[in-house]
Amino acid sequence: MVDTIDTQWISVLERLREDFDENTYKSWFKPLALINVEDGRAIMAAPTRFMRNWLMSNFAERITGAWQKVNSGIQDIEIIVLAGFQGADKEDGSAKNNAVEKKDTFKEQIRIVDDNEFGAPLDPRFTFESFVVGKSNELAYAAARRVAENKDVNFNPLFLHGGVGLGKTHLMHAIAWANRQRFPDRKVVYLSAEHFMNQFISSMRYRDTISFKKKFRNVDLLMIDDVQFIANKNATQEEFFHTFNTLIDNNRQVILSADRSPSNLDGVEERIKSRLGWGMVADIHPTEYELRLGILQQKANSVPEVEIQTEVLEFLASRISSNVRELEGAFNRMVAHSTLIGRPITLDMTQEVLQDLLRANDRRVTVDEIQRQVADYFNLKLSDLLSARRARHVARSRQVAMYLCKQLTTKSLPSIGRKFGGRHHTTVMHAVKRVDELRLTDSVLEEDILHLERMFST
Ligand code: ADP
Ligand code: MG
Repeated sequence: MVDTIDTQWISVLERLREDFDENTYKSWFKPLALINVEDGRAIMAAPTRFMRNWLMSNFAERITGAWQKVNSGIQDIEIIVLAGFQGADKEDGSAKNNAVEKKDTFKEQIRIVDDNEFGAPLDPRFTFESFVVGKSNELAYAAARRVAENKDVNFNPLFLHGGVGLGKTHLMHAIAWANRQRFPDRKVVYLSAEHFMNQFISSMRYRDTISFKKKFRNVDLLMIDDVQFIANKNATQEEFFHTFNTLIDNNRQVILSADRSPSNLDGVEERIKSRLGWGMVADIHPTEYELRLGILQQKANSVPEVEIQTEVLEFLASRISSNVRELEGAFNRMVAHSTLIGRPITLDMTQEVLQDLLRANDRRVTVDEIQRQVADYFNLKLSDLLSARRARHVARSRQVAMYLCKQLTTKSLPSIGRKFGGRHHTTVMHAVKRVDELRLTDSVLEEDILHLERMFST
């Protein structure tokens, strides 16, 4: 076999594959491509800046070492970012195919990347596979998949909105990963609205708005995250709108996210707001219990070496309802703790370690608030809800309110009873049990409760 840099690269990859576990290899090394070897330096490309940085700070020495074993002339390595491109993504993992196929276009791509690197890095963990789907996000998920898997533009723009930490950025990155994999030739760009604005401002400073315009208008799929950021920023809004219109007129896909719906974007011009809502608007609701549990189960499966009792997952899912980011944070803290002390994660341990977090989540909803909202929701007067009236509708609503107090606050049964006109704690206990049973059989009630839980989890 002729010892070309391509064959050397294959050996380097083989070494790395042996050195690391399969997952690490797949996530970090397989996406790399060889660019060139020159002056004792091996130059490789990674698809995102995030990856490049991570590789350079964690694996630079190991990669250099692997190179030196196959080519003693190598002194150091360099990893550049080649946006919109994946390395050895062939099923057989053959880097050679990849290297040969891509070689002719390398020079061209490097040049483009040099003056055209304007997207933000993508987080390799944010994929469709790792996204857990539930009632609250199924619409957004379905729309995202549709856009990622089709070249045809079905709805333009796709506008994703929802509160903080509910998966908007995750879905956008997932779209980018999936789309790049399916259609490697497409130019997919993801960036935050803030990043967009900064680039716009610097292009004005350097009197180079023309190339700013040009680079954005050459994109096949443009995603701008957190567009609420450009509210009240008039010049940026104007440019954003032009870019947006040009892309849409040319039948390029645009995806936007915000923490609120287009019509609620205060500080954004009316004509822009209305245009933003022309395509598909998909909202992500606050998470429901099942979704939170699903996410925790997925995370638990990803750390099989740590023993976690099921009741811990259930406890966390019911108590940390603010958003997924916090839920993940809580989980990671438990795993770190358990790894340190070398013991399985129990409920007691969780309550102790997460004291502060649990308290913060509790503060969000009080018994009074629950009573008020439940009364509103069932069209009752608050005084009726707290009274001794036993009319069926009133009694059922009261049971639901007690149930929610038990689920969503840390109040004890006796103290909840006191808050409901001085009822005995066994009455509260009975209500909790009854509602738990009814949820399984009465689908209307189940919907009501899910709805109420959602109201309280924001
Ligand atoms: P947002 O952009 O809406 O503020 P992110 O996309 O940054 O929220 O999500 C916050 C964290 O929660 C991320 O780590 C993300 O992976 C995780 N996350 C959110 N929703 C889900 C989901 N449905 N399944 C798995 N992880 C999720
Ligand atoms: Mg986000």
